[in-house]
Amino acid sequence: YTAATSQDLLACETCGRHFAQDVLLKHETICRKVFNKKRRPFNSLKQRLQGTEIPSVKKQLPPKNKPEKKSNWRQLHEDFINAIQSAKQVTKAMKEGRPLPPPPPPSINPDYIQCPYCLRRFNEAAAERHISFCKEQSTRRVFAPGQKGTKQAPGKQQMTKRREPTLTSAVESLLQNRAQEATS
Ligand SMILES: [Zn+2]
Ligand SMILES: [Zn+2]
Repeated sequence: YTAATSQDLLACETCGRHFAQDVLLKHETICRKVFNKKRRPFNSLKQRLQGTEIPSVKKQLPPKNKPEKKSNWRQLHEDFINAIQSAKQVTKAMKEGRPLPPPPPPSINPDYIQCPYCLRRFNEAAAERHISFCKEQSTRRVFAPGQKGTKQAPGKQQMTKRREPTLTSAVESLLQNRAQEATS
């Protein structure tokens, strides 16, 4: 129902709906006749539903269920968004090597899947992607604990780097020997 803010619309005294003035003139005569014939609102509703082409659809949606379904849907939607956002935050924090953000508040939804690596809960869609990522990250962490710039890491890197020059210097000396052989 449109609000009666527009001045171009006039309210039908019989049914209360708003119409443009010229439409209202035609409507009101019909509306009164219809209303007088079907006085009781319950009967008129029933008869109207039977007359329409889609009675079954309207009957299946009792008005009581409507707000419940809506709030339920919203709850699910919010949970979905929260799960995705927290998954993104964890993923981002892991990439940047920062401490992980606090876990999302416990959800009402029992279908949520808990990540075995960080123990956060995600809905099915988010969990699938997150867990595979989290698994990769956690295995990397286990096998490379000195990755975050501890004092051991640069020493190890130097050790591995030293091997390369020795290999190239060996090749160089070999080449030098060959060059000397060629000149001699
Ligand atoms: Zn009317
Ligand atoms: Zn995880």
